[in-house]
Amino acid sequence: MSSTDTDIAILGGGCAGLSIAVRLAAAGRNIRIIEPRKTYTDDRAWSFWRTRPDPFEDCVRASWTKWDVTGPGGLVQRGSDTLRYQSVAAGAFYDKALSLIADKKAATLSLGTTAGSISKVAQGWQIDTSDGGFRANHVIDARTAQTKPTYGQFFLGREIQTERPVFDPDRVHLMAFRKARSSGVDFVYTLPYARDRALVEVTSFAPTNPGHDVFAAWLDFEIDILNPGQVTVLRQEEGALPMQTGFAVPHQGGVVNMGLGGGAARPSTGYAFARIQAQADQVAQALLAGQPPRPQLDRAFTTFMDRVFLQVIQTMPDRGPALFEGLFRKATPDRLERFLSGSVHPVDRLSVMTSLPTLPFLRAAMTRS
Ligand SMILES: Cc1cc2nc3c(=O)[nH]c(=O)nc-3n(C[C@H](O)[C@H](O)[C@H](O)COP(=O)(O)OP(=O)(O)OC[C@H]3O[C@@H](n4cnc5c(N)ncnc54)[C@H](O)[C@@H]3O)c2cc1C
Repeated sequence: MSSTDTDIAILGGGCAGLSIAVRLAAAGRNIRIIEPRKTYTDDRAWSFWRTRPDPFEDCVRASWTKWDVTGPGGLVQRGSDTLRYQSVAAGAFYDKALSLIADKKAATLSLGTTAGSISKVAQGWQIDTSDGGFRANHVIDARTAQTKPTYGQFFLGREIQTERPVFDPDRVHLMAFRKARSSGVDFVYTLPYARDRALVEVTSFAPTNPGHDVFAAWLDFEIDILNPGQVTVLRQEEGALPMQTGFAVPHQGGVVNMGLGGGAARPSTGYAFARIQAQADQVAQALLAGQPPRPQLDRAFTTFMDRVFLQVIQTMPDRGPALFEGLFRKATPDRLERFLSGSVHPVDRLSVMTSLPTLPFLRAAMTRS
């Protein structure tokens, strides 16, 4: 480590920071994680179609083989014999990451500490924090992204316990489209854990966040129409995720950006958990091999498809519900789900392309964003 205090500084101990930390700690690398939180809570559920292994598989709280979308043309029911839609509980994820890090002498987690400026010095990097400065050979910046996206996924969700059994625990309702309250595409997402327990989330794909009050009133309404009887709110989650190709916070050359600020959210969906795991594998592999990490999550053609898709829903939001419904209705089983999970397999991409209406996509493809 020569004159530096630590080998690898990880700024931000959220999903991405802890994901890279457990991999580097397992390899015995000297790391220091800087995180402002003093304690972790079960603050979110990360759901995704699992297409690859990661170190947090035992944090999966529930798994489904069937999922639905309801659009203007009615209900589409899909499922898979091989793919699972899984939900990782953040509380279990944080517990596991923290215990793996605590087991390693060379790994330090500085809670209650905020990272400030980073500057290149003769040997490595100087990092200023609320607890003083320190030096590191490498810096991974996985702090909350401050850059505002031009388009995003905004949502408010509540995990509720209901008096009456109003949910089907076998089927995730991915999208039940509604008349838009935002200036984009609005839908309800329901993750059923039991007949009387689910995460119900109201979501907008839109250029701007409709705001907490609009979401809260809408969510009250959606829960009410379930006729649930007495409702207990167990947990609430709220988010704003970038849906923008090329989204990343600007960074100094040599600093590795990870997580949402490192472009981990899939531009066409906002989903990020599985991509953060892929990014963590790539960054860890490079650092352990002594190479500069250059994580690459998408190939050029996937980025092009995402850009065209976003262009269509941004310019024709009223067509969004029919487009999503059409995709889930027409795409070959598993291929759409794999594509949405980040597959770059040409057959998966082809299946998605042939399920989209030609004209608006051709127009969007010819428009420069
Ligand atoms: C409520 C919610 C639900 C989501 N659900 C899903 C889902 O179902 N599926 C999916 O794929 N994706 C989901 N996402 C998107 C994405 O997976 C998460 O946002 C994920 O947590 C992003 O990881 P991250 O490390 O980039 O950010 P975070 O996990 O938010 O971590 C950023 C960290 O940086 C820390 N930080 C901030 N400022 C500083 C500073 N100055 N110094 C040091 N540290 C700092 C923060 O305290 C935080 O711990 C969800 C997001 C939210 C908010």
